[in-house]
Amino acid sequence: MIKIEIDPGAGFCFGVDEVIKTAEARLQNGEVLYGLGDMVHNAAEMKRLQVLGLKTIDHQQLTSLPPGKVLFRAHGEPPETYITAAQYGVEIIDGTCPIVARLQKKLKKAYDDMDHSKEQLVIYGKPDHPETIGLMGQVNGDAIVLSSVEGVSSIDPEKRVLLFSQTTMDPEQFKEMEKALKNYLRNTSKETKYAQFKSDCTICGQMKKRKPGLSRFARKYDLMLFVSGKNSSNGKMLYEYCLSLNPSTFWISEKEEIEKQWFEGCQSIGISGATSTSREQLESVMKQVKKLTLS
Ligand code: SF4
Repeated sequence: MIKIEIDPGAGFCFGVDEVIKTAEARLQNGEVLYGLGDMVHNAAEMKRLQVLGLKTIDHQQLTSLPPGKVLFRAHGEPPETYITAAQYGVEIIDGTCPIVARLQKKLKKAYDDMDHSKEQLVIYGKPDHPETIGLMGQVNGDAIVLSSVEGVSSIDPEKRVLLFSQTTMDPEQFKEMEKALKNYLRNTSKETKYAQFKSDCTICGQMKKRKPGLSRFARKYDLMLFVSGKNSSNGKMLYEYCLSLNPSTFWISEKEEIEKQWFEGCQSIGISGATSTSREQLESVMKQVKKLTLS
């Protein structure tokens, strides 16, 4: 009998879970609900919400919307989105994760308090990620977004660096970023301003727990199935980590992608996923694996 287990630390993060529950409750109540952008980077979950009645819109459509409420996702929005919604009388349900909302405030305060002639804000994040777009909105777009250490030369070596992070980035890579920025300042700055480097690791606690949890889980199995949307940056990062722990890792976004021959000779199978993968999805993958390994 093959052992098949789901990673106990996997499932939606708190922020995504809340927004999905809000969408479900409103739709079940018969309300007309629009989602501003994908509520979650997970095609299977988006399909499920659409079947329940959620209509996904983009930012342009906010200005010409038939009656209904608009749900903002957990990643948050820049202030302009709230202004547009108010201008066009759009009723919003704000699903911004409280941790993201706190970071937005923190960044705005840092920006308002800083000496712009001597300091610069740096955000470790993905420039096109909705959360980073929301964060940039707090600071009038006046921050440098770095997604990898290769970009460090774009900072001004003569200004003090105030470093923050998008909540869903990799904590280990954040440390690499800190190191690379400090080295760059040390080697390039004409003065000793690098000593004033200041960083605040604003990666979410749920993210920080995922890699140690996955590390304990993934090594125990002959084969790992990692479930997440291929457009999820958190999914890509965790999949790559899972693969480094267990070379027999397969990345799938839906249970239909599973192939029976993967399991030949396997005695144990582990299933994990990103913070945008629900427990229900992991359970349906488990059911499919059981079906394929028993047939
Ligand atoms: S990863 Fe953390 S901060 Fe981001 S939405 Fe989830 S719970 Fe909120």
